[in-house]
Amino acid sequence: MNQTAKIINQAKKEGRKALLETEAKTICTEYGIPVTKFNLAKNEKEASTQADQIGYPIVLKIVSPDIIHKTEAGGVMVNLKNAADVASGYKKIIENVTKYKMDAKIVGILVQEMAPQSTEVIVGAIKDPQFGQTVMFGVGGIFVELLKDVNFRVAPLAAEDAKEMITQLKAFPLLNGYRNSPPADIEALASILCSVSRLVMDNPEIKELDLNPIMAYPKGAKTVDARIILE
Ligand code: ADP
Ligand code: MG
Repeated sequence: MNQTAKIINQAKKEGRKALLETEAKTICTEYGIPVTKFNLAKNEKEASTQADQIGYPIVLKIVSPDIIHKTEAGGVMVNLKNAADVASGYKKIIENVTKYKMDAKIVGILVQEMAPQSTEVIVGAIKDPQFGQTVMFGVGGIFVELLKDVNFRVAPLAAEDAKEMITQLKAFPLLNGYRNSPPADIEALASILCSVSRLVMDNPEIKELDLNPIMAYPKGAKTVDARIILE
């Protein structure tokens, strides 16, 4: 029943602080946070079969406890259009990652649906030494990185808090149908914030959580990358 506790205990037992993307996304799913469909492949053939089942285009990503920033390691390939590209992508990622870190332990390759491009948002959580579990929201790209346009609230969040975190951003017009950007489903984003709040309140051993990016659509949203770090 409780996958989250199982995953966290297993990581602790193995002395791992960073959960794998598969683990983080399984936990998200248990808390009702929408994530891309995914499967773990152990070889090229499995990857192609899984890609056929999920449907194209496909994204492949390295799953390794030694690789936290996957792009940096050459561990992400997007927009693969058929089984042959998936098989060669699999090989290429293993090659890149091995070059990047020779002794990286490779669990497998994550085969996942490619989420259509949209406005990207970021949801995070950190365990503040003074205030405890704190949830963060921002719009992806320069808004977070350059302009530091993010909102924080100490958990637990009420639905109203979650809404305010979104609507009080300077970049909010981008989520509200500004010029070329499609309006985002604010209810869906607020619901993700509340779910993250529940997740980190239920699991005090989570030190950091990072859903980056989440694609925000006119109807619904989808988490593309998830990271969870334990104490
Ligand atoms: P990391 O942050 O570890 O480098 P990500 O999983 O965030 O790896 O992948 C890097 C980028 O690739 C993302 O920011 C996103 O733009 C794109 N991407 C990754 N997975 C998907 C997906 N399933 N659908 C669409 N785009 C994706
Ligand atoms: Mg990422």
